[in-house]
Amino acid sequence: MPSLFTMDIQTLKGVGERRAKLFRKIGAPTIGDLLRLYPRTYEDWSNPQDINDIPLGEIGVVRGEVVSPVRQQFVRKGMTLFKVEVSDGVRDMTLTYFNNPYVKSMLQEGKEYLFRGKMQGTLTRREMTAPDFAPSDRCAPIVPIYPQTEGLSSRQIAAAVKAAFALLPELLRDPLPDELRQRHELCQLRFALENVHFPGSMELLEIARRRLVFEELLVLQLGLLSMKSRTRVENRLRLQEDRSEEFYKLLPFTPTGAQKRAVSQAVADMRGDSPMSRLVQGDVGSGKTAVAAALCYCVIQEGMQAALMAPTEVLARQHANTLSKLLEPAGIRTALLTGSVKAKEKREAVAGLADGSIQLAIGTHALLTEGVQFQRLGLVITDEQHRFGVAQRAALAQKGENPHLLVMSATPIPRTLALMIFGDLDISILDELPPGRQKIETFAITSDKRERAFGYVKKHLDRGLQGYIICPLIEEGQSDMASVTQYCRMLEEGSFAGYRIGVLHGRMKPREKDAVMAAFSAGELDLLVSTTVVEVGVDVPNAVIILIENAERYGLSQLHQLRGRVGRGQEKSTCILVSDAQNEEALARLRIMCQTSDGFRIADEDLKLRGPGDFFGSRQHGLPQLSIANMVQDAALLRLAQQEARELLREDPLLEQPEHKGLRGETRQLFEKVGEGAFN
Ligand code: ADP
Ligand code: MG
Repeated sequence: MPSLFTMDIQTLKGVGERRAKLFRKIGAPTIGDLLRLYPRTYEDWSNPQDINDIPLGEIGVVRGEVVSPVRQQFVRKGMTLFKVEVSDGVRDMTLTYFNNPYVKSMLQEGKEYLFRGKMQGTLTRREMTAPDFAPSDRCAPIVPIYPQTEGLSSRQIAAAVKAAFALLPELLRDPLPDELRQRHELCQLRFALENVHFPGSMELLEIARRRLVFEELLVLQLGLLSMKSRTRVENRLRLQEDRSEEFYKLLPFTPTGAQKRAVSQAVADMRGDSPMSRLVQGDVGSGKTAVAAALCYCVIQEGMQAALMAPTEVLARQHANTLSKLLEPAGIRTALLTGSVKAKEKREAVAGLADGSIQLAIGTHALLTEGVQFQRLGLVITDEQHRFGVAQRAALAQKGENPHLLVMSATPIPRTLALMIFGDLDISILDELPPGRQKIETFAITSDKRERAFGYVKKHLDRGLQGYIICPLIEEGQSDMASVTQYCRMLEEGSFAGYRIGVLHGRMKPREKDAVMAAFSAGELDLLVSTTVVEVGVDVPNAVIILIENAERYGLSQLHQLRGRVGRGQEKSTCILVSDAQNEEALARLRIMCQTSDGFRIADEDLKLRGPGDFFGSRQHGLPQLSIANMVQDAALLRLAQQEARELLREDPLLEQPEHKGLRGETRQLFEKVGEGAFN
């Protein structure tokens, strides 16, 4: 990377302290970052049309001559209109600007301009309101639109990008090796950057974009595959036997075919030549925990230890309860390690894991702390994977010597995409729910029907069943706690007077949360009023109804997760989505929820509605945020990048050759942004 790339944004002409702050806010603290801040979209000014050819109500570009002076009209105090006539040689249109005296000096009679705006008026009278314009001889054919922010317009960003180009040397050092670039007919870096910001035409934009997308995906794949390099490692923790049938006798139910399949695939891996790296994908409630337990059992029976990491305290404790009940009868000792475990218990757990007298550790990130050592760690499992970064997974694995690795994802991901993104993992799919599960009846209602819905919830509680209410999202400026408590008081004093209600929110101490969850699990509470902290993994089969306030505020996957808290037993379950949303996208989400409870279908729809940028954001999967590639549209390039990345690493595993230095630097940078620090 040329050093110019790392220069502070403030070195640019026209960028002072105040504006630099805004650039930092939109993710461009340096000149390099600015050049990689790609336009969100583009305005095409390259095809001006005649006034007559632009249908009313549509946006178009007109090349026209100003044929009148700008007239000024006072409407009332604080409101002045500026009107001017424009002709394309065939007919006229009237332009109107509000409170914008500058147009008086900028639009000169007799000169030609391009105007871009929505065509309005009637068949006989054409008008545009405040169209953008530029002198026709000085107008870029395609105008970039940047993700602007308050105080920093797209135009200002474009100007800064122009200034940045002026500073850059003609030939940039290109991270892509020449040979690779030529083989795939990819353009050079400088050309790509220039044309992605200021494309000469739509064709050039496509050429530029293709190269940048390829580069980004290549770097992503290089990063992921480097972490996978462990697959070349020898399997020193080879399982001798498949003891899963023995384990199934401990289960209070018969495993499903899908569970058995996943277990035998994983066992086969652990008996293979290199350590297991496997992802188990299953819909909510498909019984991933039992799969995890089976594998822990197999490993532990051969004298090794296992560790299971969950994203929250509540979930870790739940797993600890379930697994200890299942496995203790077989003589297996388990320990819980979370932030809230008391010092004395923690000391005992740490000692037991170190000397091997405890075989199974269950916990949160606390498992990663330095003091935790294992005598012989054979298997590492992470549950609800998207909450963890790729590197955290690796950090836990480092507690042993290349232990087997199982990742359990909470949210189904469309299969083809999973294959590409988790290129480093083999995949098992639980495509079968335990027997007797019924479809969760799902309704969307408006808030005026809330009381009736409450009545319906109460009917269930009266039969000894339990329910959840996911409370409204916090108002701006209000604390999480205040809003939940207030909402809860309203229920206690109103519709749900006399019921046993528990409250759960993010601000509570872990121990308080555990106490509430334990009481709810034990049936000592009828209703759990909660924020989305119950979103993932919580398993209380006697809870059969969930009401979600402000349902429009959640994404599809999250709604599906929330709904997955019910429908975990034999009883028919219900989900009520409360929303007054009007906008089409929100309504579409609610419709899909009412139609299907198939997590894989919902994942597909989610991807379609939200777009992959969001779907694959670091928040969801611990992967770096991509700035230009689109995992769906660019699937072909993704495959190509994956192949090339494999090839490159086979040849030069640490990317040490001089022509690979650039890629190595980029890879490190991409993963540093998500705090992965896995590349040094
Ligand atoms: P998830 O895949 O969402 O993590 P869990 O592992 O929490 O699902 O399982 C959901 C519920 O289904 C639990 O109450 C569990 O005991 C039960 N369960 C799992 N497998 C089976 C099965 N084969 N038959 C009956 N119930 C099962
Ligand atoms: Mg689970």
